[in-house]
Amino acid sequence: MNLILMGLPGAGKGTQAEQIVENYNIPHISTGDMFRAAMSEGTELGLKAKSFMDQGQLVPDEVTIGIVRERLGKDDCKKGFLLDGFPRTVAQAEALEVMLSDLERTLDYVLHIHVDQSLLLDRLTGRRICKNCGATYHLIFNPPANEGVCDKCGGELYQRADDNAETVGNRLEVNTKQMKPLLDFYQAKGYLRTIDGEQEIDQVYVNIDELLKGLNK
Ligand code: AMP
Repeated sequence: MNLILMGLPGAGKGTQAEQIVENYNIPHISTGDMFRAAMSEGTELGLKAKSFMDQGQLVPDEVTIGIVRERLGKDDCKKGFLLDGFPRTVAQAEALEVMLSDLERTLDYVLHIHVDQSLLLDRLTGRRICKNCGATYHLIFNPPANEGVCDKCGGELYQRADDNAETVGNRLEVNTKQMKPLLDFYQAKGYLRTIDGEQEIDQVYVNIDELLKGLNK
């Protein structure tokens, strides 16, 4: 099961990804998470990524493609993968085709969770993430039982640096412009499946699951 998850920031990719990887037992490969981990570990990759991420800009393709190539070559990806946040440019999508053909693999679906941009500003500024396990919450739409504390592991919740009001507008603009040619690219290849992300969280997953169950038949 070789999947790509697409959607604007705040469309619910993280929340859906958690359920997909748990139920289908495939690794969740989020380039954003990889960059954030590298930043908190203070590695060379983290230092390279930080200035771009802090401004809501994309990290250069050669850096991003390199980390994904390395990750897809690991053993746990043999049974499949869920790419989240990659590809973000057509150059990355083309590089991915080469990587997959080298691995003698093909994509199954590009799952696009669609939410109108006007709804996303509120979603993003209210988002909170667990420092410990990475689970995502929303102050209004999906609050934790106890303020500031993760329901799953008791970890402390924080707001991502790039979820502040000034950066969010820029991130949405950058992402909308970048995503359009990718949606066209995958539509033309027949991989694209668009899911209504404005529904309840559970219903969005039901729609995704219906598609994925079809793959296992
Ligand atoms: P995300 O967690 O997917 O919203 O990513 C957070 C930030 O990481 C983005 O705003 C970019 O700065 C960087 N990033 C993540 N994935 C990519 C990618 N595929 N290409 C370039 N930059 C990326």
